[in-house]
Amino acid sequence: MQRILTGDRPTGPLHLGHLVGTLRNRVRLQEKYDTILIIADLHMLTTRPGREDIERITDNARGLVLDYLSAGIDPDRTTIYLQSAIPEVYELNTLFQNLVTVNRLARIPSLKEMAQNAHLDEDSMPYGLLGYPVLQAADILLPRAHLVPIGRDNLSHVEVSREIARRFNNLYGEVFPLPEPLLGDIPSLVGTDGRGKASKSAGNAIMLSDDAATVRKRVRGMFTDPARVRADIPGTVEGNPVFVYHDAFNPDAAEVEELKERYRAGRVGDGEVKERLVEALERNVFAELRERRSRWASEKGLVDEILWDGTERMRGIARDTMREVRKAMGLDRAMVRMRRAAESRAKKKGVSD
Ligand code: ATP
Ligand code: MG
Repeated sequence: MQRILTGDRPTGPLHLGHLVGTLRNRVRLQEKYDTILIIADLHMLTTRPGREDIERITDNARGLVLDYLSAGIDPDRTTIYLQSAIPEVYELNTLFQNLVTVNRLARIPSLKEMAQNAHLDEDSMPYGLLGYPVLQAADILLPRAHLVPIGRDNLSHVEVSREIARRFNNLYGEVFPLPEPLLGDIPSLVGTDGRGKASKSAGNAIMLSDDAATVRKRVRGMFTDPARVRADIPGTVEGNPVFVYHDAFNPDAAEVEELKERYRAGRVGDGEVKERLVEALERNVFAELRERRSRWASEKGLVDEILWDGTERMRGIARDTMREVRKAMGLDRAMVRMRRAAESRAKKKGVSD
């Protein structure tokens, strides 16, 4: 069975962007692939290394697992693990750092965006944030994954993983498959503020765990067409977040078409377009999410058990790969030679005593 590796940073709850960018693909493919989800807390440290951030890992990780389950992830099929609990990922990261250039990493736009979101400039950019895609390559290649379902901002990172895998295989022999990226239906869902993608850290997203009142509040606060100060002014539909979300989450195409027509003609207020969006979201997305969430959340201790068991399984997979890696690189040869020499000296000493 081929393998999937993908995941999320435990920086907060998942949002609608995750659903259409990667989560639906994970759910759809979990029967066909050995699916492994990583909770990437080491990646969180690249922008949030503080003690208070580390303190929140447990709660955020539990939240992510519940988000996965509420979206339809089946814990009997899918493995979920905590990145920092796998020593081999630190090891592989160190080896991979030599297979990519600083210039190659410095050119990646998503790293600049992440630095900006974290209020880091050139002088405060940590070495670890530059190495973000290298650590990600270690995540993906450790279980020797074939497929990586992701959103668009991660596409250039998977490209780095492929380059590192290719370089490794050329230098030391075939150990890693070249991982294929897989984009979701909407590879980058715009934020509710209309500025860039929806993001956990930017506070511009509708969360999968939001209750109905919060969903309504967030939709009501959505950025629309700023030129439209009154309902009778013709508005722009293209790129307008409210219509992007209608297209993404309202399967009633006739209703969406009608709203767009009236919007363009100045015959509908923003309030009505938003209210219809709230209804569509409740009906088509949140009803099912909440039903599943309350079912899973009622099983006490289950989430921790899933994480614990998943991390145990991943430890075994990681050990197997690292054995192959060390063998291919010949890294353990020096120690083997020393051990042999030490043993034979001990034997001779034994004879002469
Ligand atoms: P943060 O702000 O902490 O970076 P995030 O919202 O960007 O959080 P990540 O954990 O970095 O979420 O990303 C997890 C996965 O979700 C990645 O594959 C990413 O490409 C995808 N993703 C994130 N945001 C979106 C979005 N708005 N649209 C589509 N996919 C997304
Ligand atoms: Mg991100």
